[in-house]
Amino acid sequence: MSDQLIIFDTTLRDGEQSPGASMTRDEKLRIARQLERLKVDVIEAGFAAASNGDFESIQAIARAIKDSTICSLSRANDRDIARSAEALKGASRARIHTFIATSPLHMEKKLRMSPEQVLEQARLAVRFGRNLIDDIEFSAEDGYRSEPDFLCRVIEAVINEGATTINVPDTVGYAIPELYGNFIKDLRERVPNSDKAIWSVHCHNDLGMAVANSLAGVKIGGARQVECTINGLGERAGNCSLEEIVMAVKTRKDYFGLDLNIDPQHIVAASRMVSQTTGFVVQPNKAVVGANAFAHASGIHQDGVLKARDTYEIMRAEDVGWTANKIVLGKLSGRNAFKQRLQELGVELDSEAAINAAFANFKELADRKSEIFDEDILALVNAQGALDQVDTFHFISLAQQSETGERPHATVVFSSDGKEVKASSDGNGPVDASFKAIESEVRSGAEMLLYSVNAISGSTESQGEVTVRLQRNGRVVNGVGADPDIVVASAKAYLSALNKLQGNSEIVAAQG
Ligand SMILES: [Zn+2]
Repeated sequence: MSDQLIIFDTTLRDGEQSPGASMTRDEKLRIARQLERLKVDVIEAGFAAASNGDFESIQAIARAIKDSTICSLSRANDRDIARSAEALKGASRARIHTFIATSPLHMEKKLRMSPEQVLEQARLAVRFGRNLIDDIEFSAEDGYRSEPDFLCRVIEAVINEGATTINVPDTVGYAIPELYGNFIKDLRERVPNSDKAIWSVHCHNDLGMAVANSLAGVKIGGARQVECTINGLGERAGNCSLEEIVMAVKTRKDYFGLDLNIDPQHIVAASRMVSQTTGFVVQPNKAVVGANAFAHASGIHQDGVLKARDTYEIMRAEDVGWTANKIVLGKLSGRNAFKQRLQELGVELDSEAAINAAFANFKELADRKSEIFDEDILALVNAQGALDQVDTFHFISLAQQSETGERPHATVVFSSDGKEVKASSDGNGPVDASFKAIESEVRSGAEMLLYSVNAISGSTESQGEVTVRLQRNGRVVNGVGADPDIVVASAKAYLSALNKLQGNSEIVAAQG
């Protein structure tokens, strides 16, 4: 058996399915580039048949990414699979991932199909896919709750049709590590042609065991692919988290004895990018990427840590990309220094025009904030990315008054399709007043699901980063804005969310 563990990232597909985490094409492309830098083996870029937006995102990622395999999810039917193959055209390495549910409950209640029909459909889907692309992954949805005899027949059949990866998901997060590991092991031992495919695990975190179950699937079950997401993003309690799997396998190589292609130096930047884009904030005590995960990174220089770091730390913060909060740039920094810092942070902007725009924003920020940290630069670039795309609304300026005992009032100036609009309102607080002002002109009618403010680098001198989550007609979007003035950051975030609401909203829920 190979000693190589394949890391399959599904942040852009399964992760995006968590309500509120939907991303635009440009956001997905930026995250895909970061995943490529991380040296993720397979990037599941979306579900091509779900919407035109998903299709276009996969297409853009397939064309831009060279080092990772790009994968598109498809239900087990010809239309979905053909749509995936179409979206993946031009990829240097492409994979079609097709799935069908195999548990009695899902077959009966959801698919309304007999087991024999499911078996036949799985077989035909893989055969159809294999005629289009060599690299075919098959997933038995709700695999862990499937009847093993039946599951063995399905897996044997799809491997005979040419499936090269077999994924056995714990779709509902019900598994226990030892049981799940043995479940995979038994399947591998019983399926006669099991050695012709790579086995994969895909675990959900409903009982907080997604990472433990995945590792058991690898260690006990012999799986050699783990499906995971940055920050464990995903529906309900989320998916198995990439950073935890990677650092567990690396830190305990003595036990797992497995090699990974991943370059962990890019983990923290990937984590920030995903949380800033989706508005799903990382808890401070989250393993590996939480602000307190390392005494070193949280600024608590305990005596023991200073004397000998391995007294408390089993990993080195800098190995996963933590840098101490240091001043990297200031007001006098030139365009070249800025561009170089972007490169060092692994940020690639698409054009000189994009670099110029980012530099202009940087200068504007540096005028108001004397010390610019890496976090500021990343927030600025992320916020710019969010503003760059649909471009219906652009923030221009804001004025607000608030005083104890007086009702706050705000005036926001913004452009709407290139036309300057000035809007005023009062509100419960300055942020509320500015949102009401914008809404008085835009009249989106959207419902606000979430409003959150984060200090990017930890002090009151830092930029505020605001996430606004809006919902309209069942569509949920996130807007992000950053500025040293949190009312301005809030207005920017609100406009960014409104921009995203303009996009098309045809969405089909995926499973798995
Ligand atoms: Zn899933």
